[in-house]
Amino acid sequence: MPFQRVGLLHVTLVFNLRCSTQSFTHRLLNLPVAKLLPLLAERVITWQRQFGRHDLPWQNTQDPYRVWLSEIMLQQTQVATVIGYFNRFIDRFPNVESLANASLEEVLLHWAGLGYYARARHLHACAQHVVALWGGQFPPNAESLQTLPGIGPSTAAAIAAFCFGERTPILDGNVKRVYCRYFGVEGDPTSRAVVQQLWQHAKLATPSLALTIEQPDAMARFTQGLMDLGATCCTRRQPSCNRCPLNSDCVAQLTSRTNDLPQPRSRQAIPERSTIMLLISSQMPDLLLGNIHDEEMGTGKSTGKIGATKVGSQKVAAQPRGTQKVILLQKRPEKGIWGGLWSLPECQIDGDMSATTHQFTSLSTKRKTEKPRVTHTSIQTQTSESIIRQWCISNHIQKPTLLSMAAFRHTFTHFHLHIQPWSVQIDDATDLDFDASNETIRWVRVDQLHLFGMPAPVKSLVMNFAML
Ligand code: SF4
Repeated sequence: MPFQRVGLLHVTLVFNLRCSTQSFTHRLLNLPVAKLLPLLAERVITWQRQFGRHDLPWQNTQDPYRVWLSEIMLQQTQVATVIGYFNRFIDRFPNVESLANASLEEVLLHWAGLGYYARARHLHACAQHVVALWGGQFPPNAESLQTLPGIGPSTAAAIAAFCFGERTPILDGNVKRVYCRYFGVEGDPTSRAVVQQLWQHAKLATPSLALTIEQPDAMARFTQGLMDLGATCCTRRQPSCNRCPLNSDCVAQLTSRTNDLPQPRSRQAIPERSTIMLLISSQMPDLLLGNIHDEEMGTGKSTGKIGATKVGSQKVAAQPRGTQKVILLQKRPEKGIWGGLWSLPECQIDGDMSATTHQFTSLSTKRKTEKPRVTHTSIQTQTSESIIRQWCISNHIQKPTLLSMAAFRHTFTHFHLHIQPWSVQIDDATDLDFDASNETIRWVRVDQLHLFGMPAPVKSLVMNFAML
């Protein structure tokens, strides 16, 4: 960037920095500097052409379906992780109609491992919404796009900019970081006041109408450029300011505060929760086990006979043809953590490890279930093993062989979950007398576990256990 083009800005910056860094941003916007902001867009666009990313699978298209899908996947997830998921998703659901017509179960199966599963549920709902209410076409502006399930202001703006060239600002996580540093914005970047301030900056930084007329791809380039800057130059740690097109007038760079901005958000202590996950396994005669084919999973055509595992109360005589190892999976409720995914039965321990009450996951047995005795002794005095034995009794599991496995911790955005897995081996799978009409419990053959969408930590636990 030639110095003369930013000279006034530079002088203003130095002047303001000497006066006060605290009020810098406000001074910045009250001064002629605002008139120079279009230069920011030009610099970002020029840099993007030369140094930006151009070959990601969702680029070089103006198809709103692909752009929308990538934007949703990229929320909270790194590009390197998203690429494989995006390609597999597009292979299976090549357009919005195919996604809308799929079952939520199949969508979750293809999403499993990406985390933040509400995104997958919204994705499915949004596809159905677009087909039902918009004739299969995404609305062509940010305002209407925001009315769709799971699409927030920044995602709507990105789709509108990439696909329709709309002059509308974006403010995703990476872009927030770039603006916090470039404009020297202080305060918790997740707070309402700071977010509002950043949106103001984002609006001022958007390419001018004249620029978009002169360069029809300006909005797409600028939007992509900001994302690329945040991902490749203005990284969370040790930003590469020497390669950044904004380094001549970036407040953080000029004041040596690239490590201090954005300021860390005020974090409250993350609560700790604990749960016992039960890897209930058994051997099941071949005749009781059917096959589930890949194409059946989640299509709604399987009529609930996934793995033909419904032994329920219908005991079929075992045939002398060998047995297979099976593991019991339980589907989580649609709402809440890991909603709609397959997981393991749990004995939950409320609160932290010193909590005094225990909740038991019911397997909805057909027989009248003995109510588990909820004790008020502390977890220290009532061991996990006794909790599980109590759980087994309440679910009519006879003489289980129990084995404690290595505990681990999984962190969600708002709490840590301590997971204590236990192997519960039972001789006869048919002893577990759950209701055959219950679609949320399945005995699953180990060679068919991959057909069930499970959250990443559970999948890893189950797969390792299956190999034992
Ligand atoms: S100069 Fe450095 S801190 Fe400023 S926007 Fe560029 S990479 Fe980020």
